[in-house]
Parts: sequence; C-alpha cells; structure tokens
Amino acid sequence: MSALDSAVYPLVVKPLSSGCGEKEALTAKINLMDFDVEGLAQFLSTLGEKPYRALQILKWIHKRRVDNFAEMSDLSKKLRDQLSELCEIKPPSITNEQCSEDGTRKWLMKVDSKNYIETVFIPEPDRGTLCISSQVGCALNCSFCSTATQGFNRNLTVSEIIGQVWQAARRLSALKSEGEDTSHTITNVVMMGMGEPLLNFEAVKIAMAIMRDDNAYALPRRRVTLSTSGLVPMIERLNLECDVALAVSLHAPNNELRNVLVPINKKYPIALLMEACRRYARQDKRRKITMEYVMLKEVNDKPEHARQLANILQGIPCKVNLIPFNPFGGAKYERSTKDTIFTFRSILIRAGFITTVRKTRGDDIDAACGQLVGKVLDKTKRNARYLETLGRESVK
Ligand code: SF4
Repeated sequence: MSALDSAVYPLVVKPLSSGCGEKEALTAKINLMDFDVEGLAQFLSTLGEKPYRALQILKWIHKRRVDNFAEMSDLSKKLRDQLSELCEIKPPSITNEQCSEDGTRKWLMKVDSKNYIETVFIPEPDRGTLCISSQVGCALNCSFCSTATQGFNRNLTVSEIIGQVWQAARRLSALKSEGEDTSHTITNVVMMGMGEPLLNFEAVKIAMAIMRDDNAYALPRRRVTLSTSGLVPMIERLNLECDVALAVSLHAPNNELRNVLVPINKKYPIALLMEACRRYARQDKRRKITMEYVMLKEVNDKPEHARQLANILQGIPCKVNLIPFNPFGGAKYERSTKDTIFTFRSILIRAGFITTVRKTRGDDIDAACGQLVGKVLDKTKRNARYLETLGRESVK
C-alpha cells in the first residue's frame, strides 16, 4: 500500500500519521517526500501526467537530492510550475550536529515545533551505517533503553523517516566537497534509532521501499535492516510485504528476565518470537537474522544465560550481536566486564553461533546504541492512551 491509498488529490491530502489537524491538511502543500514511486505515479496521474514522470521525480529528490522543482530540468515548465504551486519537498531539518572523536556523527532533527529526533552516522573502513528513528520517542518501555525514558509522542511520517536518509546523504556529500575527511557514503541503513518500527509499519514500509529503489538510494536488501523488539504479528507482515534484513532485540534468554528488560515479551513470549523468526528465515534461505543482546552486568551475562540463549536459538539461521551496555543518566544497569563478554561469546561460538561484539561508537556524544533521546513532547498521558489502543495494558 502506498501513502496515496487513503488520499484524494490534488487538494485534500493527508499523508500518513502527520499529526496535523484537518484544517491544516486541507491547506498544506503535498510533501512529495511522503511517496514512493508508486505513490508518486498515483499523484501525478491526478495531474494528467504519465507514470514515467514518477521515476524522474523520485530520482531528482532522492538520487540528486534536489528540493527545488525549478531544478528538475527534464520536466516541462508547466509541470514544474504546477508542482511548485501544489507541492513541497520537505525533510526534517537538522538543528544540531555533533561529531565524535571516532568520526561518528549525530544529528538532531526537528520534526515539528516541539519534537526532535536523532539520527546517527557511523563510518567504518568498509561501510557507512546510518541509524534512523521511526517514532518520536517510544512507548515500549524497555528498561535498559534511554529512548524509553522520553515517553512517546507520535509516529514519524514517511518524509520524516526517509528525510533522515536524505539529510544525512546531503550533509555527508557537502562535507566531502568542503574537504572534510568523510570519504564514506551511506552503504547501510538500520532502523534502530528512536521507536519501534513495526508500530509504524505503513510509513516504515514506504520509506524502506524508497531506500531500496534503484532510482533513489539503491540499497540491497541485506543493507536495510529493521530492528524490532518482537511484535510477532508484525514480523509476519514484514515477512510477506518487505524484503529487508531483520534484527531482533532479544536481550534475554528466558521469559522471566525478558519480561523485565523488554516488557512486550509479556504479550509475545520468547517461544512465539522464536517461531516467528523461524518462519521469517524459512521464507528465504538467504536470510540470516541478527539477534541483538545487550550485555548488562550481573543481569543477563552469566554463562547459564549464554547456554539458555544457545538453546532457544537452535534451528534459527542467525548471528548474535553482543552489545556492551552504554550507560546514560539515571540508568539502573552497568556494562558487563570485558572478560564476562568474552566468556559469554565463547560459549555461543562453541555452540555453533557466529557471535560478534559490537564496537562502542560515538559514546562521547551519546550516539552509542540505546542512547538516542531526541527531544520528545509528551508524554505520560499520550503514552498511556497509545498503549491502550494497542491493547497492551500489560506492557508497562
Ligand atoms: S529498545 Fe527500542 S523498542 Fe525498546 S524502548 Fe528502546 S526504542 Fe523502544
């Protein structure tokens, strides 16, 4: 489904979850960043334009990163004028940039007058990974997560999700032309920033389609990763409707512990989650799921936990990524010691699992995994209402 399915064009446009009022929706310009190629084609058909125009415009926006219709030189003057009058190309705006000693860059992006999200670029010798957000805050209350302390405000729109990639790509190429040492471009996108992407599925799906499109960012399926805390029914939908890599925020090898660390586990316990992972991998034999496991000192890092983990992962084509915990203000956990992580890893390797330890990047600018907070207006009441609509009273 595209963002256009529920819209009437050209005057009444209501992109996904924009959070804007009815009056605003009637007068606002149409943000073309909200559409994948299919959505653009539908919109352009309301202007009497042929579908190939969608490819041209998608290329201008996402490959050449142009935000001005006047520059779209292969469109007719009449169409450019029409688009200027009706439409806009509007990503979230960068309001702050921090650069870590290790080259990691974190951007604070403004999505509306009160809310900000964070996006992080991590350069490595052979790749450049962009970690993007899918919601303003998060309602799932994982107890080790800094984002959770911010509460939840709203889902991001397609333009706010793909706009993070657009802004980062534009900023990196500007830095390159200014002579800064940023030889890296974006080779991978991970949806591991603020929010649970599967709770904003329609927008995330369209944004991921744009990331994969050859006329936009052209990222191969293994280089777009969606990370979920384990919403089992939505993993099934992801399986059927998208072709991207899956990462699961597992973090505990038994229900007792996972109920505390990742409370959504009370609704979708480990056995159901592992079964969903098996089905996901079965759909395409080339798929290997990444199991994320944050290492919390004396909480989930004992040898018996490693053995339990090896046990529940049996039969699932996966690799395990151990993440040394990144403390934040008010956190109730500590990072496991290097020796403990090494022992944990050895047990998993002996059990036959590829196991890596994530290098901590950008912790001097609070850009490390689990440290993204943005600035979220909310919270508590909206959070509670949101959980209610999800039927998730137990996830508190
Ligand atoms: S770990 Fe992910 S799902 Fe859990 S609270 Fe943080 S952002 Fe939300």
